[in-house]
Amino acid sequence: MIYNPTMECLSHDKMRELQGKRLHNIVEYVYHNVPFYRHKLQELDILPDDIKTIEDITKLPFTTKKDLRDNYPFGLQAAPQSEIIRVHASSGTTGNPTIVGYTRKDVGIWSECMARCLTAFGVTREDIFSVAYGYGLFTGGLGAHYGVEHMGASVIPAGTGNTEKHLKLIRDLGVTGIACTPSYALYLAETMDKMGIRKEDVRLRVGAFGAEPWTEQMRREIELRLGLKGYNIYGLSEIMGPSVSYECQEQHGSHINEDHFYPEIINPTTLEPLPLGQTGELVFTTLTKEGMPLLRYRTRDLCSLLPGECQCGRTNIRMGRIEGRSDDMLIIRGINVFPSQVESVVLSMQEFAPRYMLVVDRVNNLDTLQVQVEMRQEVFTSTFDTPAAVDQLEKKLAGKLKSVLSIAAKVQLKAPGTIERSQGKSVHVIDKRKL
Ligand code: ADP
Ligand code: ZN
Repeated sequence: MIYNPTMECLSHDKMRELQGKRLHNIVEYVYHNVPFYRHKLQELDILPDDIKTIEDITKLPFTTKKDLRDNYPFGLQAAPQSEIIRVHASSGTTGNPTIVGYTRKDVGIWSECMARCLTAFGVTREDIFSVAYGYGLFTGGLGAHYGVEHMGASVIPAGTGNTEKHLKLIRDLGVTGIACTPSYALYLAETMDKMGIRKEDVRLRVGAFGAEPWTEQMRREIELRLGLKGYNIYGLSEIMGPSVSYECQEQHGSHINEDHFYPEIINPTTLEPLPLGQTGELVFTTLTKEGMPLLRYRTRDLCSLLPGECQCGRTNIRMGRIEGRSDDMLIIRGINVFPSQVESVVLSMQEFAPRYMLVVDRVNNLDTLQVQVEMRQEVFTSTFDTPAAVDQLEKKLAGKLKSVLSIAAKVQLKAPGTIERSQGKSVHVIDKRKL
C-alpha cells in the first residue's frame, strides 16, 4: 500500500517542477520573514526571483547547527508566534538546545509523512501500534504518535522506561507494531527473556526503528528475537523529526519525502554537490515548512543518494544508510551527545585538568557512557587516600554531566597524566560499540 500515491509516485520531471515552485516560494517567504536569511541572501546578491527552478538551489547559502544556536531561541522562526502550535527542542552541543516551532500546517504535513512511512512498513488501521520513543521535547514520541493517529491505527503512547509494564501491554493487548530505537528494541527482547515472555506469546509484526545508527546485523537480531520485521525510519528535528525518509518493502535504501524535504549530497570540505551514488554530507531544504523553514541545512550525516528505480513503485529518491557523521556527535541511548559538552563541564570545575575521555560501550544491548577525567595534581594529592572525598567529587561531576547531557554517565577519576595522550589530533572518544 502507498499512502499518498500522487506524491510518492510522481514522475521525476513533475517532481522537479513541483520542487522548483516550492523552492521559489520558500525563498520568497524566508526573505520577507527571517532577517537572518534576508541578510544572507543580500550578501550573495540574490533576490527570490533569481530562484526559479530546483537547479537554482546551489545559489543558496547553507545553514548550520551553529546558525540555529546563534539565533537561539526563535531567531530563525518565520511564522508569527500566534501561528506556532508546538515547540520541540533537540540537544545542543554546549549550552543552548535547538528550538523548532511548528505551525498547524507543519504538524499536519509531519503527520502525513509519518503515515506514509507506516503504510510503507505495512501498518494498517487494524494494527495496534505502540510508540516507545521518548515523549516530550524530542520529536520521536509525538511525531510517531500523530502519524499513527493520522493513518488510523490505534496508538499506545508507551514512551520509554516502564519496560515490564509495556511488555505486559504488548502481550495482553495484542500489540502488532512498535516504534522505538533499535537499541531499545533489543532491550525489550532482553526484558522479555527475563520475564519469561516468548516471542510466540506476543503478536508484534512490524517495527519502525530509527533515531540512531544501526546495522543489518542488529536488524536480524531484533527480527529474530521479537518475531517482527524491522524497518528503518530516519529524521532530524531541525527538518521535521522522524519521517524525513523511510524504507519500503524492498528495504533497499529509504525513500525521502522529497516533495517536502529536498535532499542534496555535498563534499563536507569543499561544499561542492556530489553526484548520485557518492557518499557525502546530507543537506536538506524544507520546501513547505512554515514554522522554521531551513535552506540547505547541513545535517552532518554522511550517506549517499541512490540512483535507479525502486521496485515498490514509489519514485521518491532513496538515501542509503547513515554511514557516519562529519562532526563528532555521538548518539547514546538515542540522545545526541557531543564531546564538547563534557569538555565544558570539565573546564568549569577547578578540580580537573582539561584531560578527559568518553568511553562508550553497549552492555546487554544498552549503551553505556563512562567519562574519565584527570584530577589536578593538588586535588589528587589531597584526596587520593580519602575515598569519601573521591566519591564526593565523582558525584559532583556526575551530577553536572547529567544536567548538561540529559543522560547519566559513570564517572571515573584518574590520577594526573594517566589518560593516554595521542600523537596528533587529540582523541576524546573510545566507542566500543560495533556500529
Ligand atoms: P530525533 O529526535 O529524531 O533523534 P535528533 O534531531 O535528536 O532527532 O537527531 C537526529 C539525528 O539522529 C540524525 O541527524 C541522525 O544522525 C540520527 N538518526 C536519526 N534516525 C536515524 C537512522 N534511522 N539511522 C541512523 N541515524 C539516525
Ligand atoms: Zn521502494
